Amino acid sequence: MAGIYIHIPFCKTRCIYCDFYKETDESQMDAFTEAICREAGLRRDEVKEPVRTIYFGGGTPSRLSRDHFEEIFKQLAALFQIDPDAEITLEANPDDLTGDYAKLLQGLPFNRISMGIQSFDDKELKFLSRRHSAQQAVSAVKHCRDAGFGNISIDLMYGLPGQTPEKWRENLIQACELDIEHISAYHLIYEKQTRLYTLLQRGRVQPATDETSREMFSMLIDMLALNRFEHYEISNFARNGKYSAHNTSYWKNERYLGLGPSAHSYDGESRSWNVASLEKYITAIGAGELPQERERLTHSQQYNEFVLTGLRTMWGVDLLLLKEQFGQEMYDYCLQNARKFIRENLLTIKENSLILSREGIFISDGIMSELMWVE
Ligand code: SF4
Repeated sequence: MAGIYIHIPFCKTRCIYCDFYKETDESQMDAFTEAICREAGLRRDEVKEPVRTIYFGGGTPSRLSRDHFEEIFKQLAALFQIDPDAEITLEANPDDLTGDYAKLLQGLPFNRISMGIQSFDDKELKFLSRRHSAQQAVSAVKHCRDAGFGNISIDLMYGLPGQTPEKWRENLIQACELDIEHISAYHLIYEKQTRLYTLLQRGRVQPATDETSREMFSMLIDMLALNRFEHYEISNFARNGKYSAHNTSYWKNERYLGLGPSAHSYDGESRSWNVASLEKYITAIGAGELPQERERLTHSQQYNEFVLTGLRTMWGVDLLLLKEQFGQEMYDYCLQNARKFIRENLLTIKENSLILSREGIFISDGIMSELMWVE
């Protein structure tokens, strides 16, 4: 088992662009914590190997108190064999990361903080309906460092309506000045069923042009490289080899257990996902039932995931492993479709791995879709 993901579905307020499952009513936190512990107990047999990563995502996991975390950690330690060097991450909002809260977290098993900063510009933060200010973001990083955290990641967002490349550059300069190990940077997506999508449909916001998006992505890659960040996955950059072990296990197709409402799990052959409703989740778990659906992946779906996730990373698609797991026919298919991209220097083969070149990264979606197996 690569890891355990725990979905904490509470947020104080809703950000304009967000389609993750969350609730703003926090009155069910105690019942939720109890349900997480019960679900872990019900699914203990799904985890046979030592647990190497634990990731509290959300939602806003930093809404939980010390008591909630202690209850969950106690249960995980009782049920599973946790590797003593396991990476244990908390996703946190900057406004929750006061000096006192950071110290409280340091007293728990967490050894990595992933902070949803998104921007260092107060106007952009306001547009995104984030609760924190740019100053709070900078202070939150300092509070975590002062509390003793040696592995800090921040999330940034670009391609916002009206955002200029110059403004994005200022965000990157500020990020690089921080003493952090990891940056995840994502282009804004207009997800259906968000307030942002409604604004788009009403013509109230103007999405970034392809040209601007490309310029910003290029700036991101170049500036972070100059500042000693290694570009190890399309949207992820790490200093000193501090890759996200949890997310890397997703990209390497390793197994994981997802606990909590809307959490997904993968056992190497099938995916399952819990109901995206706190109320239904608590009720079902209370009755000893798992509120989940399951889909068994076909051979070609597994091949597609293997190629897609591998190509996203700097390690690329391991071609020998591909041949071993999926057979000669799929191996030949992959190489045959990759050939034209190799000729155009968009893909390269290094030590038996198929890897996107710098130019290839810019059109990765197109390349990936050409390598997919269509039934
Ligand atoms: S804090 Fe995170 S999970 Fe909550 S609404 Fe904002 S983006 Fe979504």
